[in-house]
Amino acid sequence: MALKGLRWLAGVGFFVSVLAGICSAEGSKTIEVWKNLFTVVNGDGVDSNTTFLITSEGVVVIDTRVTPQEAGKVLAEIRKRTDLPILYTINTHYHGDHTFGNQVFKDSRAIIAHENVRKSLMGSSGKDHLDFFKTMKIPGMDETTITPPNMIFKERMEIFVGGYHLRLIHVRGHTDGDLFIYIKELRTLITGDLVFNGKIPYMGDAYIEDWISALTYLGDLDAEIYIPGHGNPGGKPVYLAMKDYMLNLKGMVLKQLEQGKSLKETQDVVRPALKKKYNDRKNLDWLDANIERTYLEYSLKR
Ligand SMILES: [Zn+2]
Repeated sequence: MALKGLRWLAGVGFFVSVLAGICSAEGSKTIEVWKNLFTVVNGDGVDSNTTFLITSEGVVVIDTRVTPQEAGKVLAEIRKRTDLPILYTINTHYHGDHTFGNQVFKDSRAIIAHENVRKSLMGSSGKDHLDFFKTMKIPGMDETTITPPNMIFKERMEIFVGGYHLRLIHVRGHTDGDLFIYIKELRTLITGDLVFNGKIPYMGDAYIEDWISALTYLGDLDAEIYIPGHGNPGGKPVYLAMKDYMLNLKGMVLKQLEQGKSLKETQDVVRPALKKKYNDRKNLDWLDANIERTYLEYSLKR
């Protein structure tokens, strides 16, 4: 129940935090991660990644960027490379910067996500989320029609397509409806926002302890390529840097909690320590919100 309250706080946090995160991106860029596997990074608005896999049967799209306009640019990138149909669209979680381009891919066989993604995007919660994004003055935002996933699952889904085997695995962490995708034959993990590369992560509706467990799970899988939700794809160091941040955040906040410190006192100690350690990362002004989320979660556990 207490976490429900946190979720409300999170909505406000999302607004403030995402505002800070927009307009920082340059034009979009398509990176060939493996043969047939591409990630589109940067772009107008929030800089969330879209990944697409071109198989012999058709295309799989993972996350759809923040607006139909940005999603249209992804579609153009796909069409430069193949005329095959878009078979599946997958959302790694409900956040608008990963789902508000869904309508561009609505003719795919299915838009797939964890059941909580559909719940979050339906009805008034979806509308509230879109209203938040509309206040951010992202170019093309007014064109968005919320298009929730039409195929959902609870724990795990496996897709066999054009010679590839995609494992979609639900975990809780960044939100209550995260999934990550493991493609064993490519030794590749598509992590959604469980991993941010080069940026302080957004934690407005996160579960810190579950997030750390999810990262441990990712670490147990044999992979050499990590495609994050934000920032460039990379090797194991991308994953390790994310885990390092999460463990340090938790450790530093817990230490203050054990000494009976208030939230403000905790922020005043932990913020500069994290800032010093991670000064090469973007979104350093999100640190206070990260500390707050962590402080609240572990206060409730004590
Ligand atoms: Zn997110």
